[in-house]
Amino acid sequence: MQPTNITIIGGGACGISLFIELFLQLRIANSHNKVSITIIEENEEVGKGLAFGTKQPGHILNTQADLMGIHFAEPAHFSEWLKKHDSKIGDEVVDNQGEDQAFTTRRLYGDYLKDQFDHYFELAKKEGMTVDLINASAIDIEKEGEGFNIQLSDGNSKSADFVVLAAGTPVANMYEELNDKKNYFDSPWPSSKILDNVPRNENVGILGSSLSAIDALMTLADNHHQGQITFYSLDGLMPRVQVEKPKPYTCEFLTVSNLHKIQREELRSPSIFEVFRLFMNEAENYAEVKIDWKKTGREGIRASTLLKADIKISENGGDALMNIPYALRYESSQMWKLLDEAGKLSFKKWLGSYWAVNRHCMPLVNAKRIEKLFDSGQLQVIPKLSDVVFDETDGTFVLTCKKKTSKEKYLINATGPASGVKDMKSDLIQNLAKHNLIEPEKAGGIKINTQTMQIINDGKSCPNFYALGHLANGLLLDVNAVWYNVRTIGNLSQHLINRITGENSL
Ligand SMILES: Cc1cc2nc3c(=O)[nH]c(=O)nc-3n(C[C@H](O)[C@H](O)[C@H](O)COP(=O)(O)OP(=O)(O)OC[C@H]3O[C@@H](n4cnc5c(N)ncnc54)[C@H](O)[C@@H]3O)c2cc1C
Repeated sequence: MQPTNITIIGGGACGISLFIELFLQLRIANSHNKVSITIIEENEEVGKGLAFGTKQPGHILNTQADLMGIHFAEPAHFSEWLKKHDSKIGDEVVDNQGEDQAFTTRRLYGDYLKDQFDHYFELAKKEGMTVDLINASAIDIEKEGEGFNIQLSDGNSKSADFVVLAAGTPVANMYEELNDKKNYFDSPWPSSKILDNVPRNENVGILGSSLSAIDALMTLADNHHQGQITFYSLDGLMPRVQVEKPKPYTCEFLTVSNLHKIQREELRSPSIFEVFRLFMNEAENYAEVKIDWKKTGREGIRASTLLKADIKISENGGDALMNIPYALRYESSQMWKLLDEAGKLSFKKWLGSYWAVNRHCMPLVNAKRIEKLFDSGQLQVIPKLSDVVFDETDGTFVLTCKKKTSKEKYLINATGPASGVKDMKSDLIQNLAKHNLIEPEKAGGIKINTQTMQIINDGKSCPNFYALGHLANGLLLDVNAVWYNVRTIGNLSQHLINRITGENSL
């Protein structure tokens, strides 16, 4: 009898973590001979997706090593691997706050992912399990009886009983009208396309000022770019700086129980105002003083001035606005689930950018490099971007900010990953949406069952169709963190294996 096949689309961090967890649990349940696992990965190598496929030394993990373990329930596995592979590490640990808290390059993390995959892929085969890796793009999926037929970019197709979408973070198809323009780069990755096409002495414009824009900047700085570099963004806000030793803090006001209390007493979901009110109480409790909230605004202040202040704050234990989101890192996704759709949309609209700059901060090492670029006058940030057009007459990009226009010969779109399905530059995702195999969620990503990670269609959880990572960015807040995705992989593999073995085996 044919083994039941599980096909994972995407051999990145999530795909590899899921593959290993499924193999382990099926082997332990002695069901590994009844199941085969296929990974479809479009890159030559596994573990080298958008985040961890970079070759740039300046592209650094934004999470410390002891939270980056790829194995379920073992977040510290990466820092243990670092200790065992000291010889391999060399200069790849860029901010050594002790190997557990170390910040390494993302390329080293990609090597770790591949190393783990290769080990368990060989072990699975040795244990007699049917496993295979297909290097192709999955471009579409059709229902085929209870299962699926997956169309591949090489013209072949693959039948599967269970499918898991682990296709990572598609870039955004923003400014599509510029895609065919010479010297326009639709994303900062892969960095080779920028390094091969942007001469060192030329001025460069970068759309955006978030972590993606910093990736583009580090690519240029890593390669000794001499020309002027300008960030053009809507709000001109850059991520703050990761706190070296965050002051330990336990929240008393903004807690899951206080949000649930609102649900219990008011029979409704908490509103964004109630959430922000609790945050304000929390921040004043943390700071032990009344806070003049008007003074916490960052718009209109020069990015270079804010960065200098943020570096000092980062080196002195941080502040309430950063340390409270950090203290909430393990609860924030649970809190997010307690908000209804309107609450999620209001949060993204009113608080989204402040949450992002305070929660997803840049490593101190990069902050100090950027400070030098500001001090040398090579970097500037221009807010209030309202328009970008291509001037055919001289082949430049005309950027309008506050009614003033600037011209750039080279332009990199670093506005960050797409949240909404319609903005995701992925043939697979667009085809699945077209065929209604996935349904967009208003708050971003697709509709999923947040417990089992099953894809929801027509209001029902699909019995054998799952999704992981960025595709769930609307219903799950922290899918831009490996540690959180690995947690969801624990739930998904338990549910999927129980579906196959038919018993509560896990
Ligand atoms: C620039 C950047 C930096 C980040 N830095 C960090 C960090 O420091 N720490 C952290 O915890 N998180 C970070 N993240 C978030 C990270 O995306 C998530 O943590 C996530 O877990 C990454 O795993 P993934 O498997 O979802 O994506 P990826 O690792 O990108 O893997 C997706 C894989 O799917 C493949 N694929 C995509 N489409 C197809 C298809 N149609 N057919 C076949 N294969 C396909 C891709 O080639 C890729 O290998 C970062 C994200 C970005 C974009």
